[in-house]
Amino acid sequence: MRILVSNDDGYRAEGLQHLVDALRPLAELTVVAPDRNRSGASNSLTLDVPLRVSEYGERMYFVNGTPTDCVHLAISGLFGQEQDQDMVVSGINDGANLGDDVLYSGTVAAAVEGRFLGLPAIAISLVLRDGRHFDTAARVASELLLRLARTPLHASMILNVNVPDLPYERLRGFKSTRLGYRHRSEPVVRASDPRGRPVYWVGPPGGGDDAGEGTDFHAVAAGYVSVTPLQVDLTRHTALADVDEWLRGRGE
Ligand code: MN
Repeated sequence: MRILVSNDDGYRAEGLQHLVDALRPLAELTVVAPDRNRSGASNSLTLDVPLRVSEYGERMYFVNGTPTDCVHLAISGLFGQEQDQDMVVSGINDGANLGDDVLYSGTVAAAVEGRFLGLPAIAISLVLRDGRHFDTAARVASELLLRLARTPLHASMILNVNVPDLPYERLRGFKSTRLGYRHRSEPVVRASDPRGRPVYWVGPPGGGDDAGEGTDFHAVAAGYVSVTPLQVDLTRHTALADVDEWLRGRGE
């Protein structure tokens, strides 16, 4: 199995190193990761400046771009005619990617960019509390991979995995979940620069709003690894008929 590993926290991130160590015995790894922290980059491509690739280890590269740039490059020509990768594993993110986070996440975006490969793409995040149990999340990643190798799932599926920040023995198991959603974000934080001009920091995300039974929030809070299958189709299929009717009524 050939696995492309990426993340959004940058090639020096603790979570990436744990992930690489855990997966190396299981597969042939190629790492292509951003040169710095690009959390919140979502599915952005860099189109205004050229991308540069630097090798920092055996089959390990960093790029002056976003997570999406990294995966796009890696599966669209960076390695010439070499065989393609079988899947992308992205992470281990330094923090949760629950509910609405998925729209902003560079970790999830890297996995989404790998959706055309032969196996499901996996985004894996550690829901930080007081621990920093990246070792737990790394072990979860290798278990999921072994399971995939035994029992494949559909290609082009994206699995969004969130791991509670607990010692491995204290995990209660795995749950398949749907995305919940968050309350509105906290307000932006206003400060001033040395010349007295206002500057702003984006504030923290809101807490879980729809966080009931069956959601990713609920599973993680109860000590389970949350596994949410994602799709790229954002169409609100249930609203098609309503919109159709609304369009027909125009000009009335
Ligand atoms: Mn991140």
